[in-house]
Amino acid sequence: MNHIEKLLRESLKDCRIDLIGFAGKERFEGVDPRHNPFSIFPEAKTVIMLGKRICRGALRGVEEGTNFGDYALFGKNWLEDEFLSIACYDLVRVLEDNGWEACPIFPNPSELGPQGVSVAEGRPAPNVYPDFDYAAVACGLGEIGLNGLLLTPEFGSRQRFHMILTDAEIDPSPLFEGHICDACGKCAQSCPLGAIDTENTKEIEICGKKMQVADIHYDVCKTCKNGACVNRFAATARPDRIAALCNRTCICHLEDSELLSNKFENSFRQREAWSVGGTKNAAERNVEAANVLGGSFSKDGNRGNR
Ligand code: SF4
Ligand code: SF4
Repeated sequence: MNHIEKLLRESLKDCRIDLIGFAGKERFEGVDPRHNPFSIFPEAKTVIMLGKRICRGALRGVEEGTNFGDYALFGKNWLEDEFLSIACYDLVRVLEDNGWEACPIFPNPSELGPQGVSVAEGRPAPNVYPDFDYAAVACGLGEIGLNGLLLTPEFGSRQRFHMILTDAEIDPSPLFEGHICDACGKCAQSCPLGAIDTENTKEIEICGKKMQVADIHYDVCKTCKNGACVNRFAATARPDRIAALCNRTCICHLEDSELLSNKFENSFRQREAWSVGGTKNAAERNVEAANVLGGSFSKDGNRGNR
């Protein structure tokens, strides 16, 4: 461990960071320049991914079907906009206090196309938005599960990340070798809308690590009222599925199977899970009638009782 990595690791407790991993430029070779973090900071040597857990209790109201707004704040918006932003900024300060430039990157949806035009030959149009799932795997923090979500051995899918690019050279973290997802299929079985097709999987490879991901019908997930949220940055981007029934079922499975290191005295699921809109036919679903979420996650992504 070099001097700067030691300094960063010593700062984790003060910054309340739960997860950290490092990757060099070689792990991003071949990544589309429109999503490559080194397009943003070409002289950077290291990508740092830092994560904070989504507290299990932030999902409680969604699991019971009685409070959706507090997940939206503690599990999503505040976690990314406030808690992680502050932690990321504090870690940036540690690097820059030691003479290394540190570029903080917010987790915007990477599937969004450029909003501007290229400023010079050979440079991708702004904004370059890195793929955070790719980066987390490249930084050795976990894997992509059959449900298409990033899973870590600490929290499963219960975390969010910010990224820092720095010209400090830090040894890359080893890739995560094991498996968290055991292909149980419970995420797909629990989806009332049949949006996870485990019959059709594709192999994805990140830095040589191979993972099987089911075909997920995100167009269906965008209408899902079982805890899924319209992407708050762009309604066209993938919805947030962390609080959705499919993923809450995955959380139960991973915890019950003792596959996660963050353990609890009591099981997450205490009674039969609720669900709405149990048909695969979108035309049969009255999404407004099924809007049990108090308007917080309305179909068009706007807050309020629309
Ligand atoms: S529910 Fe099972 S198959 Fe689905 S992502 Fe979780 S561990 Fe993998
Ligand atoms: S978000 Fe909803 S529709 Fe999509 S897989 Fe999960 S439960 Fe099914």
